Amino acid sequence: MGAPQHEDVDTVDVDLYDPGDGSIPVFRWRQAGQALATRRQLREMGLRPGGQSPVARIECRGGRRFAWLYRIDLAKPKLPMTLAKELALDKAMAARQTCPKCGRRYHHVLPLKTLGSCLECHDGTPADPASYVTSAPAHRLAA
Ligand SMILES: [Zn+2]
Repeated sequence: MGAPQHEDVDTVDVDLYDPGDGSIPVFRWRQAGQALATRRQLREMGLRPGGQSPVARIECRGGRRFAWLYRIDLAKPKLPMTLAKELALDKAMAARQTCPKCGRRYHHVLPLKTLGSCLECHDGTPADPASYVTSAPAHRLAA
C-alpha cells in the first residue's frame, strides 16, 4: 500500500522526443495512425484489447492526460454480452426452477433451500400443470 510510484504518469513536461525509459513510444492525438486505438476506441469498434499489452501511449493536453494504445489487428471481438448473459442467467434460473426430485421445470423459483423440491414432491400438493414446463426436457431423469 502506498508504494512510491517512480513512473509519474501525471508529468506535465514530457519530452515527446525523448524516449524516457525507452519502453513505450508516446504519440500526440492523431499521430497514432490507423493501426492503433485506445481501449475506448476499440470498444466503439466492437473490439477489446484481448489480453495484449499496450504498444504505445497517446497524450493530450500537454501530457497531462494519456491513454494506452492497442494494436487493432491484435484486438479481439467483444463477447456478445447479451447472449452470454442470457445463457448464464437462464442456467442459473433453471437451477432454481427445476425440482431435483421430479425434474419438472417450473415457471417460478422453487423453495429449494427450505423444501429441497417442489410442493408436490414435498407434501403432495398437486402442482398446477400451467406452472411448469410440460414438454419433457432432454435431461429428464428416468424414475
Ligand atoms: Zn417435484
